[in-house]
Amino acid sequence: MANNEKIQQLQHIDHQLAKLLEQRVQLTREFSTQEKSVDLSFLEEVSDENRTQIMEIFTLLNKPSSPKRTLLVSRDAQPESTIITSKGRSLGRTPQIIAGPCSVESEEQVMAVAEVLQEQGIKWMRGGAFKPRTSPYDFQGLGKRGLEILRLAGDQYDLRVISEVMHPADLEMAAEYLDVIQIGARNMQNFDLLKAAGKVQKPVLLKRGLSATLEEYLYAAEYILDAGNSEVILCERGIRTYEKWTRNTLDISAVPILKQETHLPVLVDITHSTGRKDLLLPMGRAALAAGADGIMLEVHPDPAKALSDSKQQINLEEFRHFMEQIRMMNHPSF
Ligand code: PEP
Ligand code: MN
Repeated sequence: MANNEKIQQLQHIDHQLAKLLEQRVQLTREFSTQEKSVDLSFLEEVSDENRTQIMEIFTLLNKPSSPKRTLLVSRDAQPESTIITSKGRSLGRTPQIIAGPCSVESEEQVMAVAEVLQEQGIKWMRGGAFKPRTSPYDFQGLGKRGLEILRLAGDQYDLRVISEVMHPADLEMAAEYLDVIQIGARNMQNFDLLKAAGKVQKPVLLKRGLSATLEEYLYAAEYILDAGNSEVILCERGIRTYEKWTRNTLDISAVPILKQETHLPVLVDITHSTGRKDLLLPMGRAALAAGADGIMLEVHPDPAKALSDSKQQINLEEFRHFMEQIRMMNHPSF
């Protein structure tokens, strides 16, 4: 056979193969790879000489393809940024400040902070009622009473209140008091809690785990979206490294990466990320410069007497000073 003829024959075979392959692709699409058992017994009819080569081709054909899933949290799924609105105030549009004590300790304590937040034009307050403490002997939070106090302060001072929930069973009850449910770093991969938070009709502030990669973090957020709640706020809060001069290492690069990869608002907790009051201002500036949608910090009327995180909280005067500085250096709009 002349070369020309061979080429023509090859083209003809390829043409037929393409048609058959198309039929095959169509058919395999109709069942899942698990259901399809691979049977290569028909290769016995092929000559010994060609069997290995043909087997390779069929092995390739039977290789389960894993199409890359577009995550709900990704910018591919939703190019425009998610804006979360609570009682007329938005997160994700202009940078916001979220401040408040580490733990809710008393009505008096929370009201004292709330009053200063309002004075400073702040619309978001944090405060822990269910506290994830390293030691079981440390203050565990006021629980439901803490949520009631936050609600009182929120209503009196026009603040949207945010607090952590640790157990799925508490979500529904907590949602009655809170404007935003927080899932803390230690619970970032509490998958039952994430799934349950996906069923709640309130935005969820999900903190990055202590040693979570950004990929793990986004999959955690994906659990909430997948379960039906698209109002998720991300919060970089520092990760564990070998460094000891800060409580955690603030991964500032997480901010632009998360902003690029996802459509969700991204906050930075500038208190827990370093555990150092003296770094609040530069870290706050860095977070905002990196594109964060807001910063979170801990404020207590009398930090020395605080029942948790006593060393890292600033007092009301220090907070006023912080606000003055951040307004001057960053955002006059605060
Ligand atoms: C908190 O914000 O109260 C808290 C415990 O922070 P994290 O989960 O980031 O440690
Ligand atoms: Mn704290």
